[in-house]
This record gives sequence, C-alpha cells and structure tokens, in this order.
Amino acid sequence: ESVLYVVATPIGNLADISERAISVLRSVDLIAAEDTRHTRQLLMHFTINKPLFSVHDHNEEQRVSRVLDELSQGRSIALVSDAGTPLISDPGFVVVRAVRQAGFSVIPVPGACALVTALSAAGIPTDRFCFEGFLPAKSSGRKKQLQKLAEETRTMVFYESPHRVLESLKDIAEVFGEGRELTLARELTKTFETFLSGSLAEVIEQVEADSNQRKGEFVLVVAGADESSDDDEGSVAAGRVLEVLLEELP
Ligand code: SAM
Repeated sequence: ESVLYVVATPIGNLADISERAISVLRSVDLIAAEDTRHTRQLLMHFTINKPLFSVHDHNEEQRVSRVLDELSQGRSIALVSDAGTPLISDPGFVVVRAVRQAGFSVIPVPGACALVTALSAAGIPTDRFCFEGFLPAKSSGRKKQLQKLAEETRTMVFYESPHRVLESLKDIAEVFGEGRELTLARELTKTFETFLSGSLAEVIEQVEADSNQRKGEFVLVVAGADESSDDDEGSVAAGRVLEVLLEELP
C-alpha cells in the first residue's frame, strides 16, 4: 500500500511498545532499521519475522533509492531506530523527507522518546523547552555551544553518554553558573532508573561521589536562565562568558 510508517520502539522497558506499533510491524512488507541485529532481537521478543534492511547515518542517502523503489512497487515499510522515536537524535530524516517529496504517505506511530519521558518527570518547567540533542564531544566545542545558550530562558534538554556526563555537567556549571537548577535522568524505564535534582553543584557532587551515577544513558533537563534577570544578573552572565572566552585565547 506504499506507506512509510515511522515507528517508535521502547527506550528500555519493552512493555512500553504500543499495540499499534506491534500491529504495524506485523503488517508491513519490510522493516528499515538503524541496526538490523538490534531490531531483530526486538522483533523476536514479539515473535515478528520480517525482512530487514539497514538505514543508518552512513548509508541513509544511498538507501533512499531502495525505499522509494519498494514504495513504488506497492510495498509498505516500517522505519525504526535502536530505541525510541526515529529521527530524534537518530537516522531517518533524509528518508522521511525524500519519501514525502516523492508523494508517498508517511504515517507516524508514536511512542517512547527519552526527551519527553525525562521532561514529564523532571520537575523543571515544561511550558517552553528546547531540545539540544548531544553537546559536542570536545570541551572547547561544548563550551562554545553552551555560550550560545547562556541567555536561553526556556528549559534545555540534552542527551549525554556515560563517558562524558560528568565533564558536560562541569562545563554547563562553568558557563551557566553552578546554582542553575537541573534534573539528571538516568536509565529511564529501566531497572536502575534514577533522577538527581538540584543545583548543578549539588548534582555534580552526587555524580562524583557515586560511580554508578555515571553509568547508563542520560537526559539532562536544565532550567532556563532567569527571565527576570535585571542588569546585575545580566552582567554576571556576561562576565562569565568573557571568562570562558578568555580561557580559549592563545
Ligand atoms: N531516538 C531516541 C529517543 O527517542 O529518545 C534517542 C536516540 S539517541 C542516539 C540515544 C540517547 O538518548 C542516549 O545517549 C541518551 O542520552 C538518550 N536515551 C535513550 N534512552 C534512554 C534512557 N532509557 N534513559 C535515559 N536516556 C536515554
């Protein structure tokens, strides 16, 4: 029926898959997966057996023609990533755009997404927020990116890996000030799900004290800059930015 379904899968707890996701995965002709081995495991759990092919960051452009070809022969395809919602810090954008441009339907099948899951329980304002994905891996790039966000008043959501979580928290504290409030959400929906909330100084102290708090997958939900920031606070923030910039100079 020439449809591309964009199907969200769990971010840990397999019971979070939706009934609709299962029935769509059962009904399609093909499944396009970020990592076919990973997805085969998931499908086995739900006793679904379908032909798979890979669509990941390194072959996405190339795979567009395969997807369009299958759709033009009347086949239906489900696009999935390793965890959560495809296209959210995951491959799929190039394919979805091309499929839409070619005039085929793209139907979303919503489900788990780590950023929304973290926001829903973080206790940080959710009326306005921005998703920043992963910060740059190197500290210099990271601080540059954070400086651009120094005046951001919306809640900011970042994804982070276990290797860098502590370094990133420290850079955020350096640029935003260690009094800024955040919630560090770890291992969402999994056995060791943990939320650490407080000022950056407080959360950093807890993460430093317990190496378990550096394991697993993380979402950082950081409060925005104070809206009511008067000139005083503004100049404190400006001073901090200047400090960081000076550090970068030769
Ligand atoms: N597409 C996914 C989604 O919908 O959230 C995100 C994929 S991205 C490659 C992986 C990152 O998402 C991890 O490094 C982590 O920051 C975050 N993440 C995914 N699952 C998570 C979980 N169970 N707990 C905390 N963070 C998670």
